[in-house]
Amino acid sequence: MTDTHQTNAWREETVGRDRALVRKGEEVTMTFALGPATGAAKEPDRLTAILDNRVLRLRHCEQIHGGTIHELSAGGQEVVDVGPGDGLITSSPGVGLLVWTADCVPVLLAADGVVAAVHSGWRGCAVDIVGAAIDRMTRHYEISRKRIGAALGPAVCGSCYEVGPEVPEALRRFDLDESRWLADNHVDLRGFLNARLEALGLPAENIETIGGCTAETPELASFRRDGESAGRQWAMAYLNHRKALSY
Ligand SMILES: [Zn+2]
Repeated sequence: MTDTHQTNAWREETVGRDRALVRKGEEVTMTFALGPATGAAKEPDRLTAILDNRVLRLRHCEQIHGGTIHELSAGGQEVVDVGPGDGLITSSPGVGLLVWTADCVPVLLAADGVVAAVHSGWRGCAVDIVGAAIDRMTRHYEISRKRIGAALGPAVCGSCYEVGPEVPEALRRFDLDESRWLADNHVDLRGFLNARLEALGLPAENIETIGGCTAETPELASFRRDGESAGRQWAMAYLNHRKALSY
């Protein structure tokens, strides 16, 4: 088992302007910001604050509930919105990959010198963006699926997520055990993604669920609970840079 899995504990600390759950391994650091519930969204200052002592570059995307994954290298400006897409992947140390959520699931993936960050609500689940990310990691970087660790961050729970019939309809095509993600007309997105990641070949013990239900936790941002006034929490993964790199 690599350090991207369970050998290090999650700790709550301040990252930039936000409280966050952080796990710093030898190779990879994963972070899930906790809220704020309202107000702060994708302000440039909020992103710039994360740069201090954390990452050399920060990349996020203009999330569209799709299946596009951007592959990123180390060059360029400090903070870049790389355009439409819902996933980011890199093998460059010091490049923070950041996704925004407010009920959807932030998924951070890591193994053997590669990290990825994915935004997956039900539409992202329906287009299998995690499958696309795993596929990229295994084909392009030749990583074994058994080596990949996944952390699923704060998201809406099944009890709080009542959906129309189109949602289970779209998700049934993956043929996963429904008891893990569907109860009446309620969908547990993290339950679905756990089952999907296992079906994709990740060992169950490599998949973690971190943080509570966004709708039920007052300090977390929840679109379902607060609508347009909901804030956004970010999730970020990066490969640690061992020394100051010059670009
Ligand atoms: Zn809930």
